[in-house]
Amino acid sequence: MVGQVAVGGGAPVVVQSMTNTDTADAEATVRQVYELWQAGSEIVRITVNTPEAAAQVGTIRSKLDALGCDVPLVGDFHFNGHKLLAAYPDCAEALAKYRINPGNVGKGSKRDEQFATMVEMAIRYEKPVRIGVNWGSLDQAKMVRMMDENARRADPLPSDALMREALIESALESAAQAEAWGLPHDRIIISCKVSDVQDLIRVYRELARRCDYPLHLGLTEAGMGTKGIVASTAALAVLLQEGIGDTIRVSLTPEPGEPRTKEVVVAQEILQTMGIRSFTPLVTACPGCGRTTSTYFQELAQNIQRYLREQMPVWRKQYPGVENMSVAVMGCVVNGPGESKLANIGISLPGTGEVPVAPVYVDGEKTVTLKGDRIAEEFQSIIEDYVRTHYGEGGQRRGAGRVIAIRATSG
Ligand code: SF4
Repeated sequence: MVGQVAVGGGAPVVVQSMTNTDTADAEATVRQVYELWQAGSEIVRITVNTPEAAAQVGTIRSKLDALGCDVPLVGDFHFNGHKLLAAYPDCAEALAKYRINPGNVGKGSKRDEQFATMVEMAIRYEKPVRIGVNWGSLDQAKMVRMMDENARRADPLPSDALMREALIESALESAAQAEAWGLPHDRIIISCKVSDVQDLIRVYRELARRCDYPLHLGLTEAGMGTKGIVASTAALAVLLQEGIGDTIRVSLTPEPGEPRTKEVVVAQEILQTMGIRSFTPLVTACPGCGRTTSTYFQELAQNIQRYLREQMPVWRKQYPGVENMSVAVMGCVVNGPGESKLANIGISLPGTGEVPVAPVYVDGEKTVTLKGDRIAEEFQSIIEDYVRTHYGEGGQRRGAGRVIAIRATSG
């Protein structure tokens, strides 16, 4: 049982992610793939780096199937992929796509032979391939050749432009080679990842101009925390806005204790805040200011966002269109009622010195005023009622949507 996901050809931009478990540890890998899928990852890549890892891929697929998880698995191969795919047919069959890095398939005369073996496997098992070039593992022989040629030119390219050209040529020449060996054109996806935002934008603009392969978009080694999120968002937003990119991955380094699923949430939020796709109802919250003197407002906004995200694995199937719902949580009367009215559901919490009541707005109309110790629970139950009555079978609303607003309070 493997889910089908369309990439390219005008299909919606697909969110993908990658595990960081040892693939030889099937239990841990199944657990993480399942979590990434539950978070909304539509494709999950696993590393296949050793015979032990390759031997477990079929088992991982079967265990995921038994859990009802049909997310396509991509095998990430470097150095020994030709041997592993040939030696482990279960692995070759269970994977939905192979990622091949032309810089890491072998050196010298072995390079073509080993790359050809991997392409032959993809043809035999009817699998698509991502030709995934990465600046950190660019084919060094090719780079040296290009540098020599560049040095002989009357108008040599600057080194950063040469690097970008080497990445692009490596990807496109490898794709042409794979096609010459029989891999159909429509089974190839390209990526050329770098870690600098401006370089990534230039490389992908050029790729989009020079080929019609679907493009896998991502900033490699984006980094940790806000740095990784901001760098990825800056690069991806520019390209997505230009219609470049068919599938995205946000390569965040998780902070200690941080779930791997964060990269899925960030990828979804990039697409959703840009209005490209919707995945989960988003909470609009004011930043808070001197008019809010407690953390109640931030806690309510955070709890509601977490609650909405946690419901999505079930709601996605049960209440189609709910991902477009908007919720607002606002901190006082300055912007609270206005923002709350614009959301599907909004709450305006009392700021410092205001009467300790929280008016709730549903589709622009004030419906109830909450007070006392159970504001959070009552507000959540209003959201649940709204979802049940407005989305899915018998719902009044299908896909249309506004935000639920939650405002801060001084409590
Ligand atoms: S809505 Fe009120 S609490 Fe929130 S930032 Fe604006 S003034 Fe401050």
